[in-house]
Amino acid sequence: MDCFWSTWALLKEGGRPSPVGGFYSRLQTSTDSLLHHILLAMASSLMSLVSDDSRYQKAFQLFLERSSEHQCMRDFIHNMLPDILASIGNGKSHLNVIGVGSGAGEIDLEMLSELRLKHPGVTVDNEVVEPSSTQLHNYKVLVSQKPGLDYIKFNWNQMTATEFEENWKVKKMTKKADFIHMIQMLYYVKDPGATMSFFQSLLDKNGKLLIILVSGESGWEKLWRTYRNQLCNTEISQCVTTADIKSFLDSKALSYQSYELPSQMDITECFTDGDEKGELLLDFLTEVLDFSKTASSELKAGVLELLRHPDCSVESNGKVIFNNNLGVIVIDQLT
Ligand code: SAH
Repeated sequence: MDCFWSTWALLKEGGRPSPVGGFYSRLQTSTDSLLHHILLAMASSLMSLVSDDSRYQKAFQLFLERSSEHQCMRDFIHNMLPDILASIGNGKSHLNVIGVGSGAGEIDLEMLSELRLKHPGVTVDNEVVEPSSTQLHNYKVLVSQKPGLDYIKFNWNQMTATEFEENWKVKKMTKKADFIHMIQMLYYVKDPGATMSFFQSLLDKNGKLLIILVSGESGWEKLWRTYRNQLCNTEISQCVTTADIKSFLDSKALSYQSYELPSQMDITECFTDGDEKGELLLDFLTEVLDFSKTASSELKAGVLELLRHPDCSVESNGKVIFNNNLGVIVIDQLT
């Protein structure tokens, strides 16, 4: 599989090895689609869902509809985040923010409005780092439709976190950031610890780095712990939870604050054979493209059994509700 992915990355990048996240956003031309199908046929192993941006985006949208993912983030943003934001900035009238893996920006804009409430009158420079052209487009549309954002200057960076880091270093940038967030994106970098450390190094005095990932107590953790080797393509996505991030920070004796956000996902449709939405949700859960069609029947049966096991889900009123709990970690500037 590793060999397959390197070949794929080399073909996509015209011989230049590069972070895998950089190519999937370009899977949109017909040549790409042809190549995709040829390689799909050649591949004997499972393909990662993120290699097909269009299906990934569809699966992600459905996941948002079937889960309390964004609602639990909103609760956190309105109830807990304001105090965290109040402590940043050191009295400055201009704040620098970086959003990494912002998606369509819904959550980013909510955080920015809380930031403004805590720091009335500030202006904000907002770097958006997002490799998917579709998501970046959606974010721009959202900004154009929402009034009252004049205090924010948006800088759009259609690239991966690693590409952003490389650019930053090449340009010898000295700008510091007051608030950096990485929400549900550290799965997609090769080395989450290194990415975290780089962004932490950009923090200004009193700056905060906010990370949200699935919690070590979630159904995701149980699913990954059992099927990690058969499901996760380590080149392209990491099965990382906030428990892993905490171990990393503890091993470096770095301090942080952490919060648990209860969240649920209705996965009932996954158990109806041939259900289109159920299959899309299964792709999202396993991060495997066309999981139902390409996984062995043993793997499929095993995953389905685990998904409805009490370790992962609760069943009530004919619904199977998967534990989608999230973890939040807030890191200060390195002193
Ligand atoms: N933060 C948003 C989106 C999360 S989905 C939210 O919580 O709603 C993960 C996002 O990370 C996607 O938009 C995806 O395009 C982006 N992403 C994937 N690989 C990435 C990488 N290597 N660097 C930065 N962002 C990445």
